[in-house]
Amino acid sequence: MKTNPCIEQSEQNILHTYNRFPVVFEKGDGVYLYDVEGRKYLDFAAGIAVNALGYNHPSFTRALQEQSQKLIHISNLYYNVPMIEAGSRILGISGMDKVFFTNSGTEAIEGALKAAKKYASSRDGRAGHSIIAMNHSFHGRSVGALSVTGTPAYREPFEPLMSGVKFADFNDFDSVIALMDDSVCAIIVEPIQGEGGIYPASPEFLQNLRKLCDEKDILLIFDEIQCGMGRTGYYFAWQEYGVKPDIMTCAKALGCGFPVGAFLLNAKAASSSLVPGDHGSTYGGNPLACAAVSQVIDIFEQENLTGHVRELTPYLEEQLDKLAESFPFIKARRGKGFMQGLVLEDIPVGQIISRALENQLLVISAGGNVLRLVPPLVIEKEQIDEMAEKLRDSLAGN
Ligand SMILES: *Cc1c(COP(=O)(O)O)cnc(C)c1O
Repeated sequence: MKTNPCIEQSEQNILHTYNRFPVVFEKGDGVYLYDVEGRKYLDFAAGIAVNALGYNHPSFTRALQEQSQKLIHISNLYYNVPMIEAGSRILGISGMDKVFFTNSGTEAIEGALKAAKKYASSRDGRAGHSIIAMNHSFHGRSVGALSVTGTPAYREPFEPLMSGVKFADFNDFDSVIALMDDSVCAIIVEPIQGEGGIYPASPEFLQNLRKLCDEKDILLIFDEIQCGMGRTGYYFAWQEYGVKPDIMTCAKALGCGFPVGAFLLNAKAASSSLVPGDHGSTYGGNPLACAAVSQVIDIFEQENLTGHVRELTPYLEEQLDKLAESFPFIKARRGKGFMQGLVLEDIPVGQIISRALENQLLVISAGGNVLRLVPPLVIEKEQIDEMAEKLRDSLAGN
């Protein structure tokens, strides 16, 4: 089927919750995608920071193929070997103590919020605890995750949501202090805000949150769903900051396209929170998902992908800074590693993204008017050059 009939049929059948770009993808290889017309695109979107290994990575697809022939699903009523292996792999790279596997980022957030509430109620024997979240944060679309998402327009049609959520300003510790009282059981924050517009936390902000949580015996939750899994040149962004959370969420690149997420807890949070009967998932951590996780981590290690990101980041930043210097409507570049944003002014980001698509380059937006680049972690220097050239043309209006 060609592009136009595909789009027509899709719009007839699929609930219109996305304004999609007019392209139908068929397959991918390396860091390139091919549409149904056979056109080739350079991918700096990676399925929204998911496809860290690009497409059709041989040992990744082989691992999925092999596991699918053995066992795809068995319920959480039984043990399975891939979950045991994936558990030890993810604890190994994170230094956390326990993990619960989910099917998505949103579900990882749900579990993290429940664990924090349970920790507080086991401590003081009552319910009714509140949570501090950040303005411009994004944690997902379910009712619980939406409740801590700091974009009022996403929340308002669905209110009342989960009660007891208060919003502070990101990177403004005083605004957090102003919301503190005895009801607060957790603070949830993205070390680098993704959907909100690629805002890295300041080191002092995270350090101060850590101290505050320790003083008050409340839990610090880091949402590493977008900034984690090597994106910043570290397995998890907090590892560079040197500030460790009590609970951490992970998804997106965790399965490199296979839907899987996780929330991880330190021993303190794990030992007095969720117990049998408190939480569950039919699919969460099924053998196929967990085989994907273990293989992703194996490949990250074999290919030293975090080292690769750290090595290429200065070059990527240099090319983006050159673009920012050439076009006065680019106000700033923000980000870390392979999670970069160009802040635009006086020109709609959608227009640049559409032109880039015509130039066979995929980029996405974030926040109000930020051009977001979250390429596969396996890109090489030549592809950064190719991106810079295509993006320059798109910014110049060609
Ligand atoms: C994408 C994202 C989520 C939601 O994950 P889903 O897999 O879409 O449910 C939550 N938090 C952050 C920081 C994200 O980027």
